[in-house]
Amino acid sequence: MSGQHQRLPLQVDPIRLAAREEHLQGTIPLKQMKRLINALSSNEGEVFIDAEFSVDMNRVVLLTGQIKTDAKLICQRCMREMDLPIALDFQLAFVRSEAEMEKLPEGYEATLIDNTTMMLSDIIEDEILLALPTIPRHLDDSCSSEIVESWSGEQTNETNTEDVKRDNPFDVLASLKTDK
Ligand SMILES: [Zn+2]
Repeated sequence: MSGQHQRLPLQVDPIRLAAREEHLQGTIPLKQMKRLINALSSNEGEVFIDAEFSVDMNRVVLLTGQIKTDAKLICQRCMREMDLPIALDFQLAFVRSEAEMEKLPEGYEATLIDNTTMMLSDIIEDEILLALPTIPRHLDDSCSSEIVESWSGEQTNETNTEDVKRDNPFDVLASLKTDK
């Protein structure tokens, strides 16, 4: 299990890493994202991260990349567990103060750096939390088919008893034939 993936730093210093255009690629166990797993039905699995720090032409420090994970949630319609594959592209702009945040050009998603360093898992966790549906539900088809299945299951019991009744005369005929 260990050593399969490149190690990601626990803490990152966005400004320093942006200066050397650090590329981060690796995984973080879902278990490390406490706020996220509160919203999930399973804490098993990993989050895959492929992202790069940079400084853009507006001198804004950015983290740009992709996050992938397979989350499990409870469908709020049928209350069964559902798989939710998450694959999202993100771009975050790091600012050191509210004032800097206000000066950001339009279209940036701002993140405030509290200290010089931040927990990488916190940054990634926030992005996933934003991507989670407020009311998780199966895709229309898969969820309703499960409901129809259990409903028609009750119907099948009735038709089964009819089938048994219909079968009985045949059994009697068959036994009469063999008797002769
Ligand atoms: Zn469902």
